[in-house]
Amino acid sequence: MGENGLNVGIDLGSTAIKIVFVENQQIVWKKAVPTVPGQAQVADRLKAEGLAALGRTADQIAAVAATGYGKGLVPGVHKAIDEVSANALGTFLLSGGSARTIINIGGQDVKVIRLSDAGRLIDFKMNDKCAAGTGRFFEVAARILDTPVDAFGELGQEEADPVNINSTCVVFAESEMVSLMAKGIAKTRIIHGLHESIARRIANLADSRDLADDVYLDGGSANNGGLAMAIEDELFRDVHVRPHPQFTVAYGAARSLDSAI
Ligand code: ADP
Repeated sequence: MGENGLNVGIDLGSTAIKIVFVENQQIVWKKAVPTVPGQAQVADRLKAEGLAALGRTADQIAAVAATGYGKGLVPGVHKAIDEVSANALGTFLLSGGSARTIINIGGQDVKVIRLSDAGRLIDFKMNDKCAAGTGRFFEVAARILDTPVDAFGELGQEEADPVNINSTCVVFAESEMVSLMAKGIAKTRIIHGLHESIARRIANLADSRDLADDVYLDGGSANNGGLAMAIEDELFRDVHVRPHPQFTVAYGAARSLDSAI
């Protein structure tokens, strides 16, 4: 399918819908919007928006692939691929073939994915029973701290004296944060403490004995540089974050259109 044309990958995640247009293996247009009911219409609208932005027409799209929880909700796609395989392919290709472990921090789950030297999926672990470490956890924290989630990375890194957050359960952490705020503890200390607490949790899931180099962090929360640094500290190894880490799964879906996967 469409090796020479415009391929589209749509990742219908639990929290965000991501779309990428790929041409000559490069992302030429991308967008993420919150997941809302009526995902098929949202996907159609995004596709039209991408075409308009690129000055192209629908007949110039070679093929469309869908992935993510909502992949079955979009009619007329040429391929539906599960998000773990799409993640593996997308990150492996974007890493120039060096990725062997992926930690994906999505809106409602965290996955640790292991890849073979050829970039094939070996296995994966998922934490989806508990919001700790997921984007949702940070969104709850953002509300309590009255600070947008995309400011956490910078604010958390500024702080050399993080407060200890003991609860990883979102409900308990919520009340712990409320009481820390009431005591007048600086938000920067709370945010840095949150990053450390979440990083411990993610490192537990990842189990550093199972990790192989190179390790890549992706998913929306990988945009949080403070969290990425805390994860590196917990795992005692380098963790790579590529630009636009929220789009690797959609990119993998688009690239699966010209691969055997
Ligand atoms: P899913 O695929 O499960 O829908 P995503 O990988 O799209 O999830 O990640 C969504 C999460 O990413 C949201 O919960 C949001 O808080 C987080 N996120 C997105 N952009 C940023 C950012 N710039 N900084 C921190 N977190 C972000």
